[in-house]
Amino acid sequence: MPVRMPVRRTAAAALAVLALTATAACGKSGSPTAGAPSTGYTVRTDVKLDGSATFAAAKARGKLVIGAKADQPGLGFEDITANTRNGFDIEIARMVAADLGFPESQIEWRTIDSANRETALAGGQIDYYVGTYSINDKRKTQVSFAGPYYLAGQDLLVRKDNTDITGPESTKGRRVCTVTGSTSVDAIRTYGAEVTTFGSYSQCVDKLITKDVDAVTTDDAILKGYAAQNPGELRVVGKPFTTEKYGVGLNKDDKVLRAAVDDALKAHEDSGDWKAAYDRTLGTAGSAAPQPPALERY
Ligand code: GLU
Repeated sequence: MPVRMPVRRTAAAALAVLALTATAACGKSGSPTAGAPSTGYTVRTDVKLDGSATFAAAKARGKLVIGAKADQPGLGFEDITANTRNGFDIEIARMVAADLGFPESQIEWRTIDSANRETALAGGQIDYYVGTYSINDKRKTQVSFAGPYYLAGQDLLVRKDNTDITGPESTKGRRVCTVTGSTSVDAIRTYGAEVTTFGSYSQCVDKLITKDVDAVTTDDAILKGYAAQNPGELRVVGKPFTTEKYGVGLNKDDKVLRAAVDDALKAHEDSGDWKAAYDRTLGTAGSAAPQPPALERY
């Protein structure tokens, strides 16, 4: 078996690939700062959130603890060597933090897999979570959501030479990999796929490359990042079959914080920060920034 690079590469390598893809896709050169962390958002001072237990605890400890993904290029990616995080979700998390009065130096990032998000929020291990987290009624019985701040759709990632998987219908009896505790599991099961699950999507991508599975399924935004990391080997089928509304996950009881996070999202959408963040991250693969979805406050 040929020796191959592990899927988790440095952010610099991943971004170089994204920048190259952008060059190929639209004929203009990728930004030299593609995917680079923002230069920072204006940090508000004297923020008061009476009635938010989460905010009071964060203030008292002098740090905001944010849950995120670490292996999703373009969305939530940790460059272990440089000790930095980058991606669209990370930028959303930073914008919100700035509006709550916390600069980057007062953010403590915690990597949390899909299956552990509700427990982490309900148990107060994190103050909020930003990581391809779909808003749905089942989750709303345990946590709450600000947003949505982005719309994705479940799709399929296959090896480039695969011609038989053309959409979810053709996964019947095929080996499809996804992540425990995600919305992707149930959605693909309805099509009769033989489903394998892991804790993170990069583990599924490894199995796809080694031909232990025929496809990986989850949100198109996530899969595009892996396709850009492995351009010679993998491609996204491109037939989204669900709608995933990404929200900022919060403790269920903290309505005051939820309203403040919705306000922060709105402010950064209106100011152009949202679009600038998209262009620097997900947008480097060549697609124009969509309109941010309307917030669904409750
Ligand atoms: N957005 C889907 C979910 O929240 C799939 C991606 C993920 O697991 O984070 O379950």
